[in-house]
Amino acid sequence: MIYHQNHLQLSNGNKVPQIFFFDMDGTLYLGEKIIEGSVEFLNRLKEKNIKRVFLSNNSSKNRKEYYEKLRRMGFLVDIDEIFTSLNATILKLKDENIKKIFPVGTPSFEEELRENGFILTDDDPEVVLLGFDKTLTYEKIEKTYHHLMKGVRYIATHPDILCPTETGFIPDIGSFISMFEKATGRTPQIIGKPSILMLETILKHHSIEKRNAVMVGDRLYTDMRMAIDADVISILVLSGETKYHDYIKSGMNIDIVCDKVKDLVSIFEI
Ligand SMILES: [Mg+2]
Repeated sequence: MIYHQNHLQLSNGNKVPQIFFFDMDGTLYLGEKIIEGSVEFLNRLKEKNIKRVFLSNNSSKNRKEYYEKLRRMGFLVDIDEIFTSLNATILKLKDENIKKIFPVGTPSFEEELRENGFILTDDDPEVVLLGFDKTLTYEKIEKTYHHLMKGVRYIATHPDILCPTETGFIPDIGSFISMFEKATGRTPQIIGKPSILMLETILKHHSIEKRNAVMVGDRLYTDMRMAIDADVISILVLSGETKYHDYIKSGMNIDIVCDKVKDLVSIFEI
């Protein structure tokens, strides 16, 4: 069901956008459960050669883990269509020709940085890069503190304070950001949702204009905030954590509000 729809004008004059960004949990699936019709819709976009990007703020998992999950569920997806906040960060760091990084993250986070040619070092790094580090030690906290006090550039992959898990919430990177802010007075540049840097970096990479891009997600203050701030077409699905009355209360001007991803078939005639 479609609850609300603004008049949409794509800058290429077509009915179909050139690229769809999708949030995953709450939008395509809920935990291990597929949201009805999402596999068919996503596979149809692929058939029609419409670009798709699967976004996740979680930088403790790498894209391989999302790839395997989506494949298992029946989504025909390529690994390079998946972007965690770390992948977006890597694009940005490469764009800026940055080489030497002091990483604060999990072993898989470090591995992904190394595979992309970065030098991971404690010796005179260009950037302190904070990820969702489930292996954080006091030694790393202390080293990070010293680099930040020396004025080394400071970037965080995403801002989430808590991370949902099967057994409840656990502290996410935002909690560490607060700790370092207390200690040093510094706050990082943030790449993941709701910062628009992740979207902008990917659009720039594909040379696609903002008004030919769509962001589909279930959260108002991350997915939809980012879509509105980036000026891409915003689509809220009510299959995740947001209810219709939350949307009304938010006062946000979202382009399309519908129950599920599969409602987009009739809107875009895909
Ligand atoms: Mg979600």
